[in-house]
Amino acid sequence: MFVDGQYVDSHTEATFEVFDPASGEKIDSVPKGDREDVRMAVDVAERAYAKWSETPTGERSRTLFKISELVRGEAEELAKTLTNEQGKPLGEARSEVNSFANTCEYYAGLTGRVRGAHTPFSTGDGYFIVTKRPIGVVGAILPWNFPVSLMGWKVGPGLAAGNTFVVKPASTTPLTDLKIAQLVVRAGLPRGVLNVVTGPGAVVGEEMLDNPKVQKIAFTGETATGKRIMEGSSKHIKRLTLELGGSDPMIVCDDADVDLAVEGAAWGRFRNCGQSCTSVKRLFLFEKIAGEFTDKLVKKVKTIRLGPGLDPKTHMGPLHTDEQREKVESMVEDAKERGAEVLTGGRRPKGGELEKGYFYEPALLADVDYKAAMASEECFGPALPIFVVKDMNEALERANDTIYGLGSSVWTNNLERAYYAAERMEAGTTWVNSPPIARAEVPFGGFKQSGFGRELGLEGLDYYYETKSIQVYDYTQGKKWHFPV
Ligand code: NDP
Repeated sequence: MFVDGQYVDSHTEATFEVFDPASGEKIDSVPKGDREDVRMAVDVAERAYAKWSETPTGERSRTLFKISELVRGEAEELAKTLTNEQGKPLGEARSEVNSFANTCEYYAGLTGRVRGAHTPFSTGDGYFIVTKRPIGVVGAILPWNFPVSLMGWKVGPGLAAGNTFVVKPASTTPLTDLKIAQLVVRAGLPRGVLNVVTGPGAVVGEEMLDNPKVQKIAFTGETATGKRIMEGSSKHIKRLTLELGGSDPMIVCDDADVDLAVEGAAWGRFRNCGQSCTSVKRLFLFEKIAGEFTDKLVKKVKTIRLGPGLDPKTHMGPLHTDEQREKVESMVEDAKERGAEVLTGGRRPKGGELEKGYFYEPALLADVDYKAAMASEECFGPALPIFVVKDMNEALERANDTIYGLGSSVWTNNLERAYYAAERMEAGTTWVNSPPIARAEVPFGGFKQSGFGRELGLEGLDYYYETKSIQVYDYTQGKKWHFPV
């Protein structure tokens, strides 16, 4: 673990193992933290807060720029570790590490540029000032699908605003985050400002919820866990941002650039082996282009090469765990039982090295019942149901018929049509003619059960501040408060 600027064991000295999803082999082990370890880290973060929150914004900004520079410099090494523990192809791991650096850089540029407000009272007898101040110790709880970039989404704005952190990575992906923690101190971040405690969610995560010194929880993960986080945080009324699951629709209209949209659907669904919160999870095709689109997409998907993430020829790595693979398999089986046709993929590859890892051939399914699990729940893996719709209103009705509301996309060459759809899609983001891409400067978050609060952009920074109002009165104009007698 990484506490107070150095690597430490759990006080119990217990450990747990981390595995390579491409081979199932053990690659390392890390300390198995418990509640006492979290309490120690939180105390360290609380002590560090007193100084970091008072550190001039110029200095905070320079430190964040330096962090971003060091992480970029070590990107190759970090990316390899990430591929090893997560399974994604090395190219994707590189982009993820760079995205951490980009986020830190973006918020480094904003630190010190946040302004409050000074406004006269409507009654003319004084004024009020609105200031922003950091919140305190933040508990950041991370998922395994983007362990590095999602740490950046939290610590980038959080550190810029003057908060300190205890980070809990997912149990299956602690290694790259632990390496970054050390780089951050080499970049000049004072010891104790960013700590990482590894261990099970049900212990380490729960202590973060219970601990009264943790003022805010920034969580990314499943909607079911998000509900537990909300419940646990209610005890001390902690500030919360929740980035949860999604079942993103992609609507392709009859006037869309079909070839572009085919590429977008393949990338949007199968990048990171389909394990992105904003992966394309349901595809809606207008009748007129449905045949041509489906044929082209099947052809494209058949060219996706499976392999270990470290092999430069690999397009798609394994699923992250065997359990994840089983979940996707059971969704595909359920759809088949309800009458769906598998157009391609949907099997474990047979023979050779791939049998050792958690590989699954990218699947496309047609004639999927809207009641099938993959149509009504989040399918977190490489399987895509295709639906044919007669017009935009049917597409929108189907697209919005979900408890989720994270991302969505519409593909059309008609701007009015794009705007019509974007305004009606119940999702935190709508991409027009693009697969899902997150950018440091664009706020990101969910509607409905995909969570609340926003990460990234100016809005993301605001979630790491408390807003404070100061009222100042001018008594030369008399006093406004009188007892009745
Ligand atoms: P989980 O919800 O299973 O786990 C997320 C984190 O929560 C892990 O660190 C886990 O620890 C921890 N945790 C588990 N139980 C508790 C608890 N009781 N108290 C506190 N912490 C706990 O999600 P996954 O790791 O499976 O991530 C995939 C999910 O994340 C998908 O649903 C995906 O859609 C969503 N996601 C959402 C994004 C968004 O921005 N909206 C972005 C990326 C992913 P441990 O690993 O030890 O169990």
